Amino acid sequence: MNEKLKPVHVIGAGLAGSEAAWALANAGVPVILHEMRPVVKTDAHHTADFAELVCSNSFRSDDSETSAVGVLHEEMRRMGSIVMRAAMGAQVPAGGALAVDRDGFSAEVTRALTSHPLITIELGEVSGIPPEDWDSVIVATGPLTSDALARAIRRPHGRGRTRLFRRHRAHHLSRNRGYVGLLVPVAL
Ligand SMILES: Cc1cc2nc3c(=O)[nH]c(=O)nc-3n(C[C@H](O)[C@H](O)[C@H](O)COP(=O)(O)OP(=O)(O)OC[C@H]3O[C@@H](n4cnc5c(N)ncnc54)[C@H](O)[C@@H]3O)c2cc1C
Repeated sequence: MNEKLKPVHVIGAGLAGSEAAWALANAGVPVILHEMRPVVKTDAHHTADFAELVCSNSFRSDDSETSAVGVLHEEMRRMGSIVMRAAMGAQVPAGGALAVDRDGFSAEVTRALTSHPLITIELGEVSGIPPEDWDSVIVATGPLTSDALARAIRRPHGRGRTRLFRRHRAHHLSRNRGYVGLLVPVAL
């Protein structure tokens, strides 16, 4: 671990948190990656692996000539994305789309992160506001953010003064839960 840099705490080893941890660590920044599964389960995840795909196994078009999604894939590849590397390694036939064997995909992301010398894995729920001594924190707990953390994030600020970036989804499993991908203080 680089002694001069304080670690960045990444909460949630889903797609977003895994990618963030990987990018930071490859830039020489130590990371502590917090993942609550399998200690605490969600309604949709079935494994203890990182970057588990809870529904579709398709990353959509991989055509960087004609598709904006394909361009994003190519940009991510060039930036050393672990999600794209694992996806290419676990690819299954799907025409022009990039589809993956979900178990192989998640297993490779998990293997890469757990074996990275600058990434420390902490299994367990982060159930409150991060302590003061956590210098930098990325909250990447997704649509199934644990209830305790979601409540804790709301509490200090109070309704009407600060709110979470929320994306409500139609699926019944994510109903009544906020999508915590990015915390944006909003003056209302
Ligand atoms: C039922 C369902 C179906 C979906 N289907 C699709 C689909 O087909 N296509 C699509 O593009 N998107 C789909 N989504 C949305 C999908 O979740 C996102 O595309 C993607 O998983 C988001 O990645 P993420 O990293 O933000 O969240 P996630 O992949 O959910 O990762 C968040 C991680 O944070 C962990 N976590 C949560 N709270 C805490 C805590 N307090 N402490 C520690 N760890 C915590 C979770 O265990 C999880 O591993 C679906 C979502 C749900 C719920």
